[in-house]
Amino acid sequence: MNQRVQLPLLNGQEATFECVYGRGCEGLCCQNGRPGLRDDELHRIREAIPKIVPMLRPAARKIVQRSGVVTRRTRDGLPLVPVQGGWCLFFNEGCVLHKLGVQEGDAYRYKPLQCALFPLLWDDQGRWYVRQKGYMNETWDELFCLNPQHSQRKAIDTLQTELAIAAKLNVDE
Ligand code: SF4
Repeated sequence: MNQRVQLPLLNGQEATFECVYGRGCEGLCCQNGRPGLRDDELHRIREAIPKIVPMLRPAARKIVQRSGVVTRRTRDGLPLVPVQGGWCLFFNEGCVLHKLGVQEGDAYRYKPLQCALFPLLWDDQGRWYVRQKGYMNETWDELFCLNPQHSQRKAIDTLQTELAIAAKLNVDE
């Protein structure tokens, strides 16, 4: 990324974060993940089902074949992806939607927005912040990478891709 993203963050000065996927973490943030899918995301994923299904865990494959990629549960009006065996339906040694996107030249083609933004979130006034243990009533205490002690690297440096996605969202919506 050539230009630094300047998205205001409530805790931008102090937040630290470093994703170590493939360097000791196999994608723990997909554990119990139930992302909500927007209409366009659901549509794109459904269109790609023939490519996605062979990449899934066998038990997850059965769920998709039996009942599709979302449940009847909703959050903020969005249907939720089911969990299988304690992991997001799309988890198989990492996020299958991410892997398929990478194969096709765009890591974010199929990845739900909620997952693409992680660990960025907004408060009830629409102000962005970095999820951190002990901050803003963060509930996912066990997730090591949300612990500010995990890394000394500034989140505003390591999360440039996520910040760019958030900034675009601010402009578009
Ligand atoms: S964001 Fe955290 S839990 Fe998810 S893959 Fe990276 S290090 Fe692992």
